[in-house]
Amino acid sequence: MLRKNRIFTPGPTPLLPAAQFAEASFTAHHRTADFRNLFTRVLADMKEFIGTRNDVLVLACSGTGVMEASVSNLTSPGDKILVLTAGKFGERWSGLGKAFGCQVDTLSVPYGQTFSLDEVRSRLTPDIRAVYVQATESSTGVRHDVKGISKLVRAQGDDTLLVVDAITGLGTTHLDVDGWGVDLIIGGSQKALMIPPGLAYCAVSERAWQRMESSKSPRYYFDLRKERKSAAKGETAYTPATSLFAALGAALEYIRQMGNGNLEAGREDLVNNAELAAEMTRTAAQALGLKLFAPQSPSGAVTAIEAPAGVDSGAIVKEFRNTFNAVVANGQGEMKGQLFRMAHIGYYDYLDTIGILAALEQVLAQVTGKPVEFGAGVRAAQEVFARQPETAGAVR
Ligand SMILES: *Cc1c(COP(=O)(O)O)cnc(C)c1O
Repeated sequence: MLRKNRIFTPGPTPLLPAAQFAEASFTAHHRTADFRNLFTRVLADMKEFIGTRNDVLVLACSGTGVMEASVSNLTSPGDKILVLTAGKFGERWSGLGKAFGCQVDTLSVPYGQTFSLDEVRSRLTPDIRAVYVQATESSTGVRHDVKGISKLVRAQGDDTLLVVDAITGLGTTHLDVDGWGVDLIIGGSQKALMIPPGLAYCAVSERAWQRMESSKSPRYYFDLRKERKSAAKGETAYTPATSLFAALGAALEYIRQMGNGNLEAGREDLVNNAELAAEMTRTAAQALGLKLFAPQSPSGAVTAIEAPAGVDSGAIVKEFRNTFNAVVANGQGEMKGQLFRMAHIGYYDYLDTIGILAALEQVLAQVTGKPVEFGAGVRAAQEVFARQPETAGAVR
């Protein structure tokens, strides 16, 4: 049969056609009224997408660039920070903290698990200047309790900031950034926004802006204060990725249409879409006798599934690619060979979801050499879908 190329990885994710057209046809110079109009509209829309009244900045870099900015702008060498880590992206926080001379305190739990709030509470001391965590840990498929963690951090007062890497969390997870008091939340273009890699963004609280006035870590390109000043004039400090802004504008418009003209409603629909695809995937995997890698607190962003005993997950990834031209992700680091990951971030609909689950049944039969009850996973997913109230439906 034909093999259309499809990606199911936790970034980059499938591209929205309207965004691709907008990107390809955009030619304006960045110091013009045309670009300023686009830029100003995109920043305003991004506030609604994130769900915040805080300043939003969009930078030309991958997600890690803004993760770095959240360390260099909010800390000084010697500052004590607390990193909550449960996977490869949590470990990135530790690396960044050390690179900027912070005294890094880590609360780490095994891959596939999340933190108990009691443990978090016991590690929070008044001298911690900032807490760093993921909303969804893309390497394991875990969802962390950002609401619960925020509550504990806010109880410390204004001297402890909370930074959340929601790079795969935004658009897949219900987050109340301002209500919970998150000081800096980070996202990336190649995830739920359905556009290519190259932009990363953040929303910054007043507390965080204040901190930047006294923090002493070196920064230049990633000096967020400079970007804030330029943004107030409808510009970026340096040359922006203009065509990606055009793509972003089109993607935000699409999300607004999902919400019948209301961007925040569209964002909620996009989150519900991911949550539903994730639930269909988890249920199907279990119906096929597979084990979830993060059963206790699975995310709506990505589902990590353990390879059956005696099977290398690399063989599963390869079979998906060879037979169906579908790209799923292997485990990262020590998890390589043990699990595979299927993402639900952004532009996936019912047919994509059912299709990849049907393909999973074929892949399992191939790699295990054992009979698979075809339809068992798909049926379980169908039942999840059929139980949904109509309004919680797929991307329209
Ligand atoms: C994709 C991702 C990042 C950012 O990675 P980049 O390659 O720098 O864009 C960070 N954190 C999480 C949880 C991610 O999924």
